[in-house]
Formats: sequence, C-alpha cells, structure tokens
Amino acid sequence: MQQFTYRRASTLDDVFKMPGRFLSGGTNLIDHMKLDVETPKAIIDVGRLPLEKIEKTKTGLMIGAAAKNADVANHEIVKKDYAALSQAILAGASAQLRNKASTAGNLLQRTRCVYFRDTSKPCNKRQPGSGCAAIDGYNRNLAILGVSSKCIANHPSDQNVALMALEARVHLQSAGAKREVALNDFYLLPGDTPEKETVLREGELITGVSIDAPPSGSKSYYLKLRDRASYEFALASTAVVAKVSEGRIERVRLAMGGVGAKPWRLLEVEKMLEGQNASPELFARAADLAVRDAKPQSMNAFKVELAKRCLVAALTHITKA
Ligand code: SF4
Repeated sequence: MQQFTYRRASTLDDVFKMPGRFLSGGTNLIDHMKLDVETPKAIIDVGRLPLEKIEKTKTGLMIGAAAKNADVANHEIVKKDYAALSQAILAGASAQLRNKASTAGNLLQRTRCVYFRDTSKPCNKRQPGSGCAAIDGYNRNLAILGVSSKCIANHPSDQNVALMALEARVHLQSAGAKREVALNDFYLLPGDTPEKETVLREGELITGVSIDAPPSGSKSYYLKLRDRASYEFALASTAVVAKVSEGRIERVRLAMGGVGAKPWRLLEVEKMLEGQNASPELFARAADLAVRDAKPQSMNAFKVELAKRCLVAALTHITKA
C-alpha cells in the first residue's frame, strides 16, 4: 500500500477545505488500496458526517449518504414500501460488510473484473490506454450490455439495481453548489474512457439518495441469480416495481444487474409492458427485447438466456403477488 495522508471531516464545510479522496465505510476503497489498484495521496474520511439518517419526506424517502447498508435494508419503511431495495441489499455481501458499507460507497462500488484488481495485467479502467485483458481472457462474469471495445466490465452492486428501478435521485454537493442527478444519468458507459464511471465532478460529495414513493398499490421485488446462494455477485438480477390491477400492468419500472456495464434500466421494455395483460407470451417478448442489444463475450453467452429467465421470473412473481 502507498503512503497517504488521512483527515477526518466532522462537518460538511470541513470536507471541501482540502482536496482528497473520500472514504466512508472503506469496504471497497481500502481493498483497492491494499492491492495498489487505487493509490490516493490524501484521504478525507466522511464516514462520520451527520449523513446517516433515513427519513420519510413529503414525496417519499431520503437516505443519507453515510447510512449503512444494514440500516437501510432493515428499516421498517424500506421493508414495507421499497421492498426491492431491502431485498437487494440483503442479497449482497455479508452481514459484516453490510454493517460497514455505506449507501454512497455502494453507489460507487467498482467492478469485480479480475484484471481490474490485478496490477500485473493490462486494464483500461485502472490504467487508461493499457488494454483490456478480459476481452480475450476470463470474462465469464462480465457484461453483455453497454460494453465497448475498451472495457467489458459489469457493474457489481445489487443496491443500485433496485435504486434504478425505484428511479432514485443522487444528491451531490461541492464547495459552492448542490445538484441532483437521476440515477439513470449518474453512471457512464465505458465507451473510450472506461476509467470515468460516473458524472461526479472533482471534489463533489454524494450527500444522499432520494426516492419518490411509487404510486399507491405498487409492489416491488428483487431477484438475484448467482453461482452460490450467498456472498456472491449476481450473474443476472432483476428489480421490478409494478402496479398491477386484475392482471393488467398499469405501471412498471425495471432494471437488471450482473449483465450491464452499469445498473441496466429497461425503459423500452417498461413501455412495451404498460397497459398490457400479464401473460407468459408477453413476458417472453419483454425478455427478448431486454437482451436485443446484448454483446456476449467468449465465456458469457449463457448470460443472455439467464437474463431473460430472470426477467420473466421477476415479472411472473410481481404480477401474481
Ligand atoms: Fe479492465 Fe474493463 Fe478490461 Fe476488466 S473489462 S480488464 S475492468 S478494461
């Protein structure tokens, strides 16, 4: 690990006094620093800022950036009104990690591509211009949607897939300004610059995530498929938020995990499903549309079928629930 300076911020004003890399739960960043994948010279610990609250608002819910994953997943309002978010978080990592990991840290969770974490291998995301060892290498777990010739890494988080289907907004603050970004606009596709993963600006801090309450009568669900039952990343997952009346899909929001370069919102599929009566035929067409632009790699063509089945199973569950 490289040497670095450490400073703890007690107030939001403190945060912007000096440049540095923000540290919250540290469950991702510290791993990367130990591996020399990330080598920040200055660390600003923002994990003790008063940003841990999970509060009901006039329009829905506000989750502070420092709220622990475990606290969000086990919060009564989240379990009742945003079940997919609770289910997604509980499907991720271990209890110990969930007790430490923060909401904002999870938003910025980085890929598990094995070459990204191995500094002896070329990786455009870690070292721009060095190449991509995964394209002709071990790519079984990587993305089939949103990939580029420079990077085929997938986004690893479960939380963010549920937040995508819940149409969350990310609240950002810098020294002189505040802004909000829809989660679907927060993540960038790899293109020619896979090292740029979000629209976060230099020195900008995530202060929270807000979610509008889905319309009355909506339900949500998160389904995760993986190689083993726990402590494993998704091969494919689906978050669905839907309002269904007597078999008719009045409103639906969908996102997939494990298969995309970012948490993958299915806007076209949502449009196709709304106003239709639920049926296996409809869901089969939805699944075909969901993976229409898939670009499987040498080892992960199975994800195309897996993603389809995951989507169909999630839609079947929510429309029968
Ligand atoms: Fe790096 Fe992306 Fe290639 Fe993995 S897929 S080696 S993260 S450039």
